[in-house]
Amino acid sequence: MDLTGRTALVTGAAAGIGRGIAIELARGGANVAVTDLRKEPKLVEEQERGETTEVIEDFGGDALFSECDVGNESSVKATVGETVEAFGGIDILVNNAGISVPGSVTELGWEDWEQIVDVNLTSVYLTTKHAASHLNESGAGRIVNLASTAAFEGTPKGAGYCATKGGVVNLTRQLAVDFGSDGTTANALCPGPIYTSMSQGTFDDPERREVYEEHVLLPYFGEPEDVGQLTRFLASDAARYITGTAIPIDGGWLAS
Ligand code: NAD
Repeated sequence: MDLTGRTALVTGAAAGIGRGIAIELARGGANVAVTDLRKEPKLVEEQERGETTEVIEDFGGDALFSECDVGNESSVKATVGETVEAFGGIDILVNNAGISVPGSVTELGWEDWEQIVDVNLTSVYLTTKHAASHLNESGAGRIVNLASTAAFEGTPKGAGYCATKGGVVNLTRQLAVDFGSDGTTANALCPGPIYTSMSQGTFDDPERREVYEEHVLLPYFGEPEDVGQLTRFLASDAARYITGTAIPIDGGWLAS
């Protein structure tokens, strides 16, 4: 799973799963553009280890931070330009940035709906649109999109989240169709519960945590690094024949 000489752009990489992915890709030897709304990680344990670029630089990896709002086209365009200028291209695009805006269809206001669609789904369109020529240039481009087990089910107060994650899975299939002949693969990852600032509230609430424990078949939960390792595999030559898939990484959530 050697990524030496490749460049990765990871969105939402200051914290949580994106941070785990950025660190693992850098461990594989890739140069990494860590992009986010802000540099600082969110969880106390993340803050104690330092910003993502600092962690990468500590083990000798090469990283830059680029401020980016994934729902804003000019911001995405600027970040793609900054990455290409620094590292000479983009071989691996990881669309990880995402938010949860809880509510049913009747509870969500128009602005809530617009916000979650922009950040979770329109972002994949925007980053891919602006990075596509660079990804395809290498003849072995890689797109990895963060969906969720929620892509395959409805959940209480999950109208925006489930709809956008379902959209990410099918947009990923479309990208596989559009870019296959260029040698670029596109795959979606569908994590179950992973402890991050997004899921912290659920993990810390005994009743909601019990639901997690019931559906995860293993006696432990996943970590951002687990998603990082799967992403590193998909970004590598070892995964060159895998495209258009939606891969659960969920401790058995979807099987139960
Ligand atoms: P997180 O909140 O810990 O991290 C998300 C990061 O994205 C943050 O650093 C945040 O600043 C950034 N971000 C938010 N809006 C942004 C924007 N407009 N532009 C750029 N960056 C932005 O969340 P996480 O749990 O690490 O989630 C990462 C991805 O994994 C999301 O797409 C999420 O839906 C998905 N996911 C998470 C879980 C889980 O249990 N944590 C499960 C399934 C899927």
